[in-house]
Amino acid sequence: MGAPSSFGTHHEQVVFCHDEASGLRAIIALYSTALGPGLGGTRFFPYASETDALADVLNLSQGMAYKNALAGLDLGGGKAVIIGDPRTDKSEALLRAYGRFVQSLNGRYFTACDVGTYSIDMDVIARESDFVTGRTVDHGGAGDSSVLTAFGVYQGMRASAQFTWGDQSLAGKRVGIAGVGKVGRHLAAHLVEEDARVVVTDIDSEAVARLVQQYPSIEVAESTDALIAADLDVYAPCALGGALDEKSLETLTAKVVAGAANNQLAHEGIGKLLSDRGIVYAPDYCVNAGGVIQVADELDPSGFSFERAKARATGIFETTLSVLERAASEDITTAEAADRQAEQRIREIGRLGQIRLP
Ligand code: NAD
Repeated sequence: MGAPSSFGTHHEQVVFCHDEASGLRAIIALYSTALGPGLGGTRFFPYASETDALADVLNLSQGMAYKNALAGLDLGGGKAVIIGDPRTDKSEALLRAYGRFVQSLNGRYFTACDVGTYSIDMDVIARESDFVTGRTVDHGGAGDSSVLTAFGVYQGMRASAQFTWGDQSLAGKRVGIAGVGKVGRHLAAHLVEEDARVVVTDIDSEAVARLVQQYPSIEVAESTDALIAADLDVYAPCALGGALDEKSLETLTAKVVAGAANNQLAHEGIGKLLSDRGIVYAPDYCVNAGGVIQVADELDPSGFSFERAKARATGIFETTLSVLERAASEDITTAEAADRQAEQRIREIGRLGQIRLP
């Protein structure tokens, strides 16, 4: 995935939304609707400038186009950012003003939760718009998407084990998880249930304590650096982006990297460094698609079904395996293989709209 143009010239549509009275300043970006309406969350973040917000939304919407395509969804890539501090600037009026702008796109963009927005916010936005997912269970929504995000990462990790060791079982493997927030703690639970040896770290010591109380077999590393340098089979970055850089590669012992965090490679060259060292990197947007699969299921005419969404997220195993195999057979990095696979689907399925229906 190349870097998006700073003016969004590769994007179909970029909409600036402004409502002075409520303080709303938002940008909605649609990278591609070749496969269907753009689906992606709304990030509420105190960007230092509009330029920073624009760069982020262009990048994130492109990422969603690739993620949704690779996940096999009939959905394009979109994303939105609201400029402001969610703790102090969020109000009913602001969210509903934003909802009216989402509605104005008439279904070209469906929104969802992201950093700084929650299911209860989606319920408020949905009072003005029909094009909202990630709503609370009480409102017919999918609720907390981290449940299937973690399940999908677990599937991608098993596929990576199959590719690396010829056996998908993680029993007995030592797995290090950096970040045991919403996704990391569910992932830890899947791994403990499979008798993997789990080591975790988090800057939030209470999050670690809660998890260890629930699963006393879990070991704790004192920092992410210590975790990376520990004797691991699998490393799962589940905190912030940029987890893999030259410094972390110096000490990383794991043979497999598979985690939930977005944008794990600090830059594109890291993918090559990983493959040169024989480390199998399961591309982030391939394995963390369970959350978008979960909220996309809300769009089914029959309403949300957790079981149907879970069955689809199980497919992340096959998708990951095919990406890893493609990288090996085409002698490219796994990140490049994921991009090629996503672009191929956007091209091959996206063009079907050219067959005119009566
Ligand atoms: P979260 O905020 O609930 O959890 C993140 C955890 O990482 C927190 O406990 C935090 O204390 C910890 N953390 C932050 N900085 C750290 C550091 N330097 N070292 C160790 N721990 C650190 O977020 P989440 O929903 O669990 O998401 C985790 C990652 O997965 C994020 O990168 C997110 O973008 C990505 N992701 C999440 C979803 C989802 O459905 N929640 C879907 C796709 C991708």
